[in-house]
Amino acid sequence: MLISEKIKTNQPTVSFEIFPPKPGYPVDTIYDTIDSLSDLNPDFISVTYGAGGSTKDTTVEISSLVEQKHNIPALAHLTCLTSTRDEIDGILDKLEANGVRNILALRGDVPQGSCAVDFSDSMYSHSGDLVQHIKERGGFCIGGACYPEKHKESKNAWDDIVHLREKVDQGLDFLITQLFFDNELFYGFVEKAGSMGVDVPILPGIMPVMNLKQVSKIVSLTGCSVPKKFLRIIEKYEHNPEALKEAGMAYAASQIIDLLAWGVPGVHIYSMNKAEETRRIVNSISTIRGTQNRDCSKL
Ligand code: FAD
Repeated sequence: MLISEKIKTNQPTVSFEIFPPKPGYPVDTIYDTIDSLSDLNPDFISVTYGAGGSTKDTTVEISSLVEQKHNIPALAHLTCLTSTRDEIDGILDKLEANGVRNILALRGDVPQGSCAVDFSDSMYSHSGDLVQHIKERGGFCIGGACYPEKHKESKNAWDDIVHLREKVDQGLDFLITQLFFDNELFYGFVEKAGSMGVDVPILPGIMPVMNLKQVSKIVSLTGCSVPKKFLRIIEKYEHNPEALKEAGMAYAASQIIDLLAWGVPGVHIYSMNKAEETRRIVNSISTIRGTQNRDCSKL
């Protein structure tokens, strides 16, 4: 089923992101995780695409398994910066043949040691080029990424949203955000994007923090800000891993409850392949989500 159709239903969607095992590790090491996450009946499961296409075969394989064995819509991530048109077409052919109809169209990070201008002549210098290619081919529902705290390469938030609007106009059906810890930043972003003509549903991406190492990695990779109330929790429990994990899950659940109250069309959980922790978060919000009819004016 197309994710754009799922999002139109009355109840907010709940979806998970998983990542394939690192290259060299057997793909079946993720099967148990997928089984457990599928039991939670998500609206879709997204499967990341390793940097520079390093997991392209496993991303296709796992997405196909999610669709065919579990009968859950898979959202296959696909990056394009270092790819040729033939490579992209080859992946699209495989996804189509396996019934995967939803793609998260991404540019991908600039490889270390290069900068974005080095790729200005490439076939796909921005994700919008990939969106256009997939759209021309037809048959797929296409999602894209957005950044409540702007993309690190953007000059400013306004410029970021101008380019976001361009890629939406090239054919995106929905957006998923970079993770954030401060919901107010997300609300401000959605309102600003809406006022600048971004008219597709925006699903907030929430990552439960499960350990201290993860926090510094996230902050250095994404540049996302850490609000004082979350910083206090981290400082208080940094030497108690179990307590920090509990607090991290509770913080993610409280973010989701607030987002649902605000009226988001769905919530995308960066599960980090942790099925049990994801289950606990989903259970803690299930009653609230179940009683909710979405405010469609906030699509
Ligand atoms: P773009 O939309 O191309 O934007 C990148 C920069 O270029 C921004 O500053 C933007 O404002 C600017 N820009 C866009 N269009 C134009 C234009 N026409 N002219 C000038 N400037 C422009 N990475 C992976 O490798 N694998 C994954 O599976 C993966 N999954 C992700 C999932 C989500 C939900 C998110 C938020 C990110 C994910 N990423 C993934 C990271 C992503 O690849 C990086 O953030 C990358 O640097 C940008 O990708 P993009 O698609 O947002 O790029």
